[in-house]
Amino acid sequence: RPLYDVFIIGAGPIGLACGIEAKKAGLNYVILDKGCLVNSLYNYPLNMTFFSTSDKLEIGEVPFISHGNKPNRFEALEYYRRVASFWDLNVKLYEEVQEVKREAERFHITTPRGEYEARALILATGFYDIPYLMHVKGEDLPKVKHYYDEPHPYFGQKIAVVGAANSAVDVALETYRKGADVTMVVREEELSPSVKYWVKPDAENRIKEGTIKAHFRSEITEIREREIDIKTPEGDITIENDFVLAMTGYKPNFSFLKSIGIELRDDEMRTPFYNEESNETNVENVYLAGVICGGLKTNKWFIENSREHAPLIINDIAKKFNSK
Ligand code: FAD
Repeated sequence: RPLYDVFIIGAGPIGLACGIEAKKAGLNYVILDKGCLVNSLYNYPLNMTFFSTSDKLEIGEVPFISHGNKPNRFEALEYYRRVASFWDLNVKLYEEVQEVKREAERFHITTPRGEYEARALILATGFYDIPYLMHVKGEDLPKVKHYYDEPHPYFGQKIAVVGAANSAVDVALETYRKGADVTMVVREEELSPSVKYWVKPDAENRIKEGTIKAHFRSEITEIREREIDIKTPEGDITIENDFVLAMTGYKPNFSFLKSIGIELRDDEMRTPFYNEESNETNVENVYLAGVICGGLKTNKWFIENSREHAPLIINDIAKKFNSK
């Protein structure tokens, strides 16, 4: 079994940043991802534009030049491919970590392709793998999507967009502008205050003029092939429907964290415990990097403020290993 000093789970921007720092420190490392390189970014909507300017998304001192000041998904994919090649990172893709066990001073890691040993583990697994479900009848129909890619399939279709935050608003506007008949179903009283300030008025005005229909303080209660039931403050209604785009958010894989022994706070956000000076968790030599650190608070950590986790963690690991 190969033995690594540092085993990094997740080849997102922050997992890659950790790999770069490990390489700089002369540590023997590997980065594994269950999907492709920057798998979460790859699965974002095709036409998405980052809210961060490109300089804020840079890692490993590789400049990120984009056409506009805010890069799009295609540019970001190109950029992180370049970073991985430039640093010649040791990345293994399409290999999901299924189990981590601690055996004395070492971690024993199992994937469908093999087994590994490591002295330290960095979890940079993000929060984009598990969507919040609505838990309603019909949610498992193929017409219900928890990930959105592009507007074309929805031309001329009656679609319901569930949610009130950035993803829902972007999807509602984009599909409306490409010829879909859009109804938003929003649990709250209004669109989320976190919606990008340059997008919110556009959505609010479309709702006001009725070109995008919206039911606030409302929830879908059942989904069928041709229609959906919605509970609204005015009573239960049934509307015609071809697709449901459930933009209800995503959450980290807590059971994976717990299986490794990482403790979560008992609060609403279920923030994992870690030492903020090193990002080490309650399990010795297990570190958290990137957006996973926020638990359910998925708008606390971004690429721009969590890329700093990489040097913090690798310094701590290098210090420990060099003193042994
Ligand atoms: P991720 O990029 O999510 O990477 C985690 C990786 O771990 C994934 O590739 C996943 O496949 C892999 N993985 C998970 N479990 C396993 C396992 N068991 N085994 C192997 N691999 C595993 N942030 C910004 O800073 N600026 C922005 O403009 C911005 N825009 C965003 C737009 C959208 C639509 C969304 C959803 C998020 C946006 N974010 C933005 C947040 C951004 O996604 C994160 O900041 C960034 O992806 C976090 O990087 P990460 O490396 O922590 O996690």
